This record gives sequence, C-alpha cells and structure tokens, in this order.
Amino acid sequence: MFKEIKVLKSHGSQYVKNLRTQPVSALFRGRPVISGDITKDEIKTISAVCPVMAIDGKSGSIDMGRCVFCKECSFLLPEKIRFTNDYRISSNVREALIIKPGSETPVRLDENRVRKEIRKLFKSALKLRQVSAGGDNSCEMELAATGNVNFDLGRYGIEFVASPRHADGIVITGPISKNMAEPLQITYDATPSPKIIILAGTDAISGGIFEGSPAIDRRFIEQNHIDLYVPGNPVHPLTFINGVMDLLGIKS
Ligand code: SF4
Repeated sequence: MFKEIKVLKSHGSQYVKNLRTQPVSALFRGRPVISGDITKDEIKTISAVCPVMAIDGKSGSIDMGRCVFCKECSFLLPEKIRFTNDYRISSNVREALIIKPGSETPVRLDENRVRKEIRKLFKSALKLRQVSAGGDNSCEMELAATGNVNFDLGRYGIEFVASPRHADGIVITGPISKNMAEPLQITYDATPSPKIIILAGTDAISGGIFEGSPAIDRRFIEQNHIDLYVPGNPVHPLTFINGVMDLLGIKS
C-alpha cells in the first residue's frame, strides 16, 4: 500500500485548477504572430509552402480557420513568423480568426454578437451533442478530454450528452462529408430550440485540407448561424473550454 501511495505522490496533482491561466508547453502551436515588416517576396515564399492556402498572398495574414498549424511557414521564416502558446483563440466572429502582420492582439469574442438567450439559459448548465461529420477522431478525442479529471469542464455544468434531445446545442467536428450532411441536419433538427452551434477544428471551420472537395457538403454551415468558432488541428481542450466559457460569460 505504501508503494501505491508513493506512486500517487510522485504523480502530483494533475487537476487543472484555473482553466483560464493554465500554462501549456512551449511546443504548443497557438496564435501566430507575423512580423509587421514581412516583405512581398517573403509572403510569396510562405504562401507557396502552405498546404491549405491559409496565408493571404497579398497581405500575409494567416487565417486560423484554415491553418493546420503545421508550422512550415515558421520553419521557413522563423524571424518573421512565430506561433505563440496562446490557446485562447476562439471567437464568434469568423474574421477574428484572421491574424494580420504586426498584430499581437489576443483573439476574443464580440460581446455584442453573443445571442442574449445563450447566457440567460445556458450559463449554469450547457449540454452539448457532438457530431463527427467526417472527422478523423483527433478533435473528437480532444473534446472528450475536456471532461476528464484534468480539465473537468463539468465543474461549470458543461457536458457532452448522448442524445440531441437532451442537448442545448451541437459541436461539429470534421469537414462535413456528403454522407454526414443529412445525419448532421437530423441531429440539429432533433435538438430543442433555442440551440447553439459550435464548429470545433480547422476541418469544421473551413473544410481544412478537404476545402473545395466534391466529397464534402457544407451547406449546413452556410445556412445556419454559427455561435462559436474554435480553431485548432486538432483543437486543444483549453481552446475549446475557454471559448465556451467566453460564450457563456463565465469569468473564471
Ligand atoms: S502553419 Fe498554418 S499558415 Fe503556416 S504553413 Fe502551416 S497551415 Fe499554412
């Protein structure tokens, strides 16, 4: 028994006390910072290596809704592009995910665009149904981790549930493959109103590496209001958690 206690003690406490300020590894690839003096030639060079056209060929801005965080651009021009370990990169405004050269401004939600009923009804309890619409199981695993003993998102009454009929909203992962378009719509229709839609991960936000493919059907995204965009490839649990807390108006 003493042996077991010794092992437990050596593990220390893995519970994340403050989900807002928890430091992450320096290796984590979060919000990019692009030097304000990046030249046209340099923009051309990095645009050419980007596998998902996340870099605007004219301005040099990086769209985190498209970026797969491969860091190829940064490897090529480390003095001009760096990826910080800022994981608070979710927003309810799609354009806010586009980081311009010279900008060090943190990404946040536009408070004026948060629907009033969201905070009124869901601030102390939010149940979500996750729909993997052609996902590769990476974002799905990270979302599952939000409820584990480390992150314990359930402390705020935020949990994933098995049925859309018990949910207040859906969280979509994956680029929405054609064969998942209808099940996604059925799941959404089965969720009682008012309901929220969260897009988790690059694939869900833009289609990712599948953008423009005839194998995906993204009409659902075009036809519905999106309440939260959570970038990442895959999404980090803290990015998702902080995004949802911001959406609900939970301070800490
Ligand atoms: S890190 Fe993002 S912007 Fe840079 S090359 Fe990869 S996908 Fe493109």
